[in-house]
Amino acid sequence: MGERVDCDVVIVGGGLWGLGTAWTLARRGLGVRVLERAAAFASEASFAAAGMIGAQSEALEDDAYFAATLASRDRWPAFAAQVVAATGRGFGYRPDGCLHLAFGASFERRLEAKYLWQKRRAGRVTRLEGEALAARFPLLGPRVSCAFFADGDHWVDNEALGAALEEACRRAGVGLTVGAEVTRLSRDGGAWNVEVAGGAIHRAPRLVVAAGAWAQGLLEGLADWGTLRGFPVKGQMLELRVPPRLLPEVPLHAENVYLVPRGADRLLVGATVETVGFDKRVTAEGLEYLLQGAFETAPDLRGCEVTRTWAGLRPATPDGWPVLGAGPVEGLHLALGAYRRGILLLPLAAEAAAASALGEPIPPEARAFDPARTTRA
Ligand SMILES: Cc1cc2nc3c(=O)[nH]c(=O)nc-3n(C[C@H](O)[C@H](O)[C@H](O)COP(=O)(O)OP(=O)(O)OC[C@H]3O[C@@H](n4cnc5c(N)ncnc54)[C@H](O)[C@@H]3O)c2cc1C
Repeated sequence: MGERVDCDVVIVGGGLWGLGTAWTLARRGLGVRVLERAAAFASEASFAAAGMIGAQSEALEDDAYFAATLASRDRWPAFAAQVVAATGRGFGYRPDGCLHLAFGASFERRLEAKYLWQKRRAGRVTRLEGEALAARFPLLGPRVSCAFFADGDHWVDNEALGAALEEACRRAGVGLTVGAEVTRLSRDGGAWNVEVAGGAIHRAPRLVVAAGAWAQGLLEGLADWGTLRGFPVKGQMLELRVPPRLLPEVPLHAENVYLVPRGADRLLVGATVETVGFDKRVTAEGLEYLLQGAFETAPDLRGCEVTRTWAGLRPATPDGWPVLGAGPVEGLHLALGAYRRGILLLPLAAEAAAASALGEPIPPEARAFDPARTTRA
């Protein structure tokens, strides 16, 4: 039997959702411990992301999911300000909009329809074309026929955000452990036993599982998860060093890829969507796909230096919706299934998972993600 450590809440997984939940709980006075398997916090999907807070550009339908993304986007300015105030660190949070590009007449009609239904609820959308578009976004090539500027979308440097949120947790008194792989979860005597490879056991009445794409393995055996089985969806990305003329002022959604400015001279190109299990290799085919999409959008990127490539695993669920709230076993709370929108949904997810762990009502906009929708105890 290894060392035994007691606290109020154990959080398994130190990605942005785990850290965000921990920070929220610590500020409410709870003793929180985050256990992260990797050597660094926010180093899996939360690192791999492009950082878009794209409630409008990522919207698919006018449904409860869309309402949740808008609610989270609306929380972003205050959330970002609080992290900055707590740490003195910036992380490139920019509420400046996003440009969605159209390639030809039928594409334009599709985007027009999409932005029409969301206009009422999500914010202003402006159509840009011709010289106005070329003057403002000189990197765009001739295949782009027009574009829609969604005023309300934001973006953030998620790598810098991870470091800031870790620091915020530290300052709020959260116990932070890296290199801690949780191997087993069990409950007795009104508390969870969270066993870590190497022997330590963390014991707490409340447990939050925020283990991203890897959660399913941990949760097996605790309940019948019905159709709530999480799985990984791989995304490959690359980074280019670009001159000022090729650095757009906001993220660009193109035909198959997106281009996201990062810092003073870098442009992220993402992302593939591949269901290939826990494979994080960067492949030649993946890079070809990204580069082809980038060059069709902005041919002058051909001459730019490739500075980094990487791949991450998005935590997906069969119905495509997150899983946020109380699980089917007492004291178990879930913050999972962020899929493509974990950065966008971070403020709402942290608030909802923390409220769930505190036994308080979760924000109404997050109720659509209630785990009870398919699980059976
Ligand atoms: C290429 C790519 C681009 C993306 N772009 C965007 C974007 O622009 N906007 C957006 O909103 N979203 C984007 N996403 C999605 C977003 O990154 C994720 O939804 C979000 O980061 C998920 O956060 P998380 O904390 O749930 O998961 P993760 O960041 O994966 O964190 C889970 C953590 O749990 C740890 N863990 C797992 N098992 C254990 C264990 N047994 N013991 C201890 N620790 C464990 C892992 O090591 C990991 O650090 C993108 C994702 C990818 C891959």
